[in-house]
Amino acid sequence: MKDPTSDLGEDISPDEAPACEWCGDSLANAPDRRTRTWVENREVQRVQFCDGACLDSWRDSQE
Ligand SMILES: [Zn+2]
Repeated sequence: MKDPTSDLGEDISPDEAPACEWCGDSLANAPDRRTRTWVENREVQRVQFCDGACLDSWRDSQE
């Protein structure tokens, strides 16, 4: 079992690691992450989630 904080690598700092839009967990160690993009006001919006469950919860909350 790896220490999750030691696996960020050199390319990405904890500050730069994206966080789940729904639960706020860091996605640096989320192999099952989901990304959702859409266009709003001609700009691409993008949110990321640690897994499909968070994506579903977020999507439900948007409607
Ligand atoms: Zn999440």
